[in-house]
Amino acid sequence: MSSLTRSETARWLTDRDRFVILTHCRPDGDTVGTAAALCLGLRQLGKTAHVLHNREVTLKYAPLLAGLTKAWPQEGDVLVAVDTAAVQRLPEDFLPLAEKIALRIDHHGTRESFTAFELVEPEAAACGEILWGLLELMGISLDKPMAEALYTAVATDTGCFRFPNTTPASFRTAAACAEAGGDLAAINREIFDTNSFRKLKIQSWITENTRFLAGGQIAVCAIPLEVERRIGVTEDDMDGISGFPRSIEGVKIAATLREIGGGRVKVSVRALPGYDADRVCAHFGGGGHKGAAGCTISMPLAEAAKAVAEAMPEM
Ligand code: AMP
Ligand code: MN
Ligand code: MN
Repeated sequence: MSSLTRSETARWLTDRDRFVILTHCRPDGDTVGTAAALCLGLRQLGKTAHVLHNREVTLKYAPLLAGLTKAWPQEGDVLVAVDTAAVQRLPEDFLPLAEKIALRIDHHGTRESFTAFELVEPEAAACGEILWGLLELMGISLDKPMAEALYTAVATDTGCFRFPNTTPASFRTAAACAEAGGDLAAINREIFDTNSFRKLKIQSWITENTRFLAGGQIAVCAIPLEVERRIGVTEDDMDGISGFPRSIEGVKIAATLREIGGGRVKVSVRALPGYDADRVCAHFGGGGHKGAAGCTISMPLAEAAKAVAEAMPEM
């Protein structure tokens, strides 16, 4: 594996012609927005570029990929993964491609590299931030669709510039998106200021059913699939839900557990500065960042909740 700098990556991309870009499983705004902006940027340079169709992309982010997707790569396509920390973060149907991915552009600190080349900047708040730097180096000028994709990437991973991961470069990326004519207020309203009744109902359930430890500094909320089904939540409704128990006054670190089928439980941990979500998830083979991390545990929900509670830091 070779680590590339931004300018080496810009050259690496410029030197190649046909690209297929891969997003991660349970795709969020950062992976989708970064993939869309990279695809549009490469097309502006006259290259052939597509985003590999990811069936897990939800209605909220799907419009960013309109006209950009492709069902499967062809021989000779260069595969680039964005915002994908590990092979296990690829959608299951992408796994046959795992060994063929040539480049990873990411902001997750590496535990194991899985691509021949990588540009990884763990200090970046979002992959979108890294991508903006790359697009500039490649001489690409932002247009409105690119700007809206990039803004979505940076805004979602920074919680609309509220999380402590937010850097000057996050704001610079947003400023470039505003200059390029992106309708940032509309994106903010849609993502951060619009709640379905289903989302409010699951928040209400979480409010009633979260368990508190360490005098209220730790919150653990295990949501049975049956509850999600009864309320009828979609993945868009659940996007960002793990920030909700963390937002309760006094909570320093919170885990949200969801049953995802096949006897597996998806855990999302969110932590205030000074607490380490990544460390809790690393316990279970997952990872992420200090402020936000995830893992998947193969255990019944109640047992998983107990194991996660035990992996929480001493307070
Ligand atoms: P999530 O709780 O799934 O929203 O994830 C929070 C952060 O941790 C995101 O930056 C994810 O990319 C990262 N993450 C989630 N699950 C894993 C995993 N199994 N391995 C490494 N990073 C992960
Ligand atoms: Mn992501
Ligand atoms: Mn990200």
